[in-house]
Amino acid sequence: MAEIAFRNVTKRYGKVLAVDDASFTVADNEFFCFFGPPLSGKSTILRLILGLERPDSGEILIDGRLVNTVSPAARNIAMVFQNLALFPHMTAAQNVRFPLVERGAPEAQIAARLADAAAKLHIGHILHKMPAQLSGGERQRVAIARALVRDPAAYLMDDPISALDARLREETRVELKRIQREAGRTLIYVTHDQEEAMSVADRMAIMERGAIRQIGTPAEIYDHPATTYVARFLGAPEMNILPAAEAAQVIAGAQGFEGSRDIGLRPEDLRVSDWAGEGRAAVVAEVEPLGGYTVVTLDAGQTRLRALLRGQPDIRVAAQVALRCDPARVHFFGAGGEALHRNDLGGLK
Ligand code: ADP
Ligand code: MG
Repeated sequence: MAEIAFRNVTKRYGKVLAVDDASFTVADNEFFCFFGPPLSGKSTILRLILGLERPDSGEILIDGRLVNTVSPAARNIAMVFQNLALFPHMTAAQNVRFPLVERGAPEAQIAARLADAAAKLHIGHILHKMPAQLSGGERQRVAIARALVRDPAAYLMDDPISALDARLREETRVELKRIQREAGRTLIYVTHDQEEAMSVADRMAIMERGAIRQIGTPAEIYDHPATTYVARFLGAPEMNILPAAEAAQVIAGAQGFEGSRDIGLRPEDLRVSDWAGEGRAAVVAEVEPLGGYTVVTLDAGQTRLRALLRGQPDIRVAAQVALRCDPARVHFFGAGGEALHRNDLGGLK
């Protein structure tokens, strides 16, 4: 069992604020993602949990116990690093066995753990191969198996599948979710791929310049982003954010934007139809048919918007169309980029 918590943890490298007053609690058995752009502090958080770095201030707790000065070995946490780093001169089996051999575990236990990890990761048939003979996905699974045999209290994974091609990434993230569920362990996972974060995470933290901007389930954060930064960062195409003053061009019948600086419209919440002289007019600037859906770029007055439409609608560049959005789907943001709640905005209908 492992619950992992930060209380106001700060870590600097010289003048760089790598982790800025971070607080969170990852529950036992939770699949928790840190999601943020490069250099936002994700890897530093993992190194702090592992014990490779010490915080400048704040507390790191594992199962309620303060571990700020506890050595990595005594924390019993396994890490899968970004560069998988298998030993090239060892077979897959020897790689997976290595952490237990290193500790002098009895052979019977090593064999049993190897068999168990191999079954969970479906690598039984490649255990005799050398890393150079394995595909990227196979190497990935061997590296995870090597972390799994240790039976640690928690796993940390630092963008472990970013090197794989798109199809394999999709396959592997489904596998990871299954393994975590079956192994019943806390898993803290770092990624810069939003689809990956949203598909695997029970809960996630959105990072920006060392700070955690929001924590919640993927659905909570997607539906109720706390700031314009989070709103833009999660969702593809990204949320349309426009000055409230221009909102009337898009949202017919809604009022009460006065209290907000900006409004946000998810591309999938926009409706585009043939222009029939009613509603708000927009001109089609780009059409990107992507098979199951189509991304349409529109100019409504001075405002450029992107709409995500199902299927392949018959929409041409330069056509004039009618643009609508359900007022109930509109997001509101204040002067500091913070989300405002409908109740704070009195006049909204
Ligand atoms: P991420 O994993 O999100 O890309 P990192 O945690 O690696 O971000 O880095 C956060 C910030 O800390 C960056 O500005 C990075 O340059 C800096 N940083 C990370 N590790 C070191 C280090 N060992 N020495 C100096 N600066 C570092
Ligand atoms: Mg990193």
